[in-house]
Amino acid sequence: MERLWTGSRINKNKKMVEHLQSSGVIRSKKVAEVMETIDRALFVPEDASPYMDSPMQIGYNATISAPHMHATCLELLENHLKPGMHSLDVGSGTGYLTACFAIMVGPEGRAVGVEHIPELVESSLQNVQKSAAAPLLKAGSLVLHTGDGRLGWPEHSPYDAIHVGAAAPEIPQALIDQLKPGGRLVIPVGNIFQDLQVVDKNPDGSVSIRSETSVRYVPLTSREAQLRG
Ligand code: SAH
Repeated sequence: MERLWTGSRINKNKKMVEHLQSSGVIRSKKVAEVMETIDRALFVPEDASPYMDSPMQIGYNATISAPHMHATCLELLENHLKPGMHSLDVGSGTGYLTACFAIMVGPEGRAVGVEHIPELVESSLQNVQKSAAAPLLKAGSLVLHTGDGRLGWPEHSPYDAIHVGAAAPEIPQALIDQLKPGGRLVIPVGNIFQDLQVVDKNPDGSVSIRSETSVRYVPLTSREAQLRG
């Protein structure tokens, strides 16, 4: 029974990925592979519909992003998540994207997540432990920390890829500083109206910024402000 149920769940996760491919959100084979490898159901609350293409509440005024947003960010960062590279996921929430990053950069790379709600860090660790990224957590190439992600995570910097899962009023300087020349930062910027911005650090250290699309994320803020709602 258990096996049957597990089988159908993996099938549904695969269907979700196929749908994102046929609608053109996923173009890369690598991104499809990693989203098939990391079962989304392990990262959403048990009573939710894990494969539906919408964001979901995860408590503490936070949400897990919709599958098409996860896919979009993975597509934008794919070339900066090659084996051996370093990645940072700010506002790691459920740990879903950090787990995807960890699979992409592999055991020689680093996938660091920073989240400021300790309870979410705790549950994200449990989620990852159930997932295909568990061996990377055990080996230490995937790490999830409690902290203010606006400060980045200097310890494993500079990063080839930085993703921010919450909307910043402006791009935090610490994140630009911790980006490697040739590296890319993907971050929603704005208050009510937000743009997903793609920040590329050039070899000379200057940055080029463009807007990819309009988005709606929870704010990148202090823990107190978030819990007040
Ligand atoms: N990518 C995550 C997104 C979670 S929502 C996922 O799909 O699961 C955004 C997350 O950012 C929330 O978990 C929230 O608690 C966190 N967050 C907001 N401000 C933060 C800050 N200053 N530092 C760290 N995390 C922050």
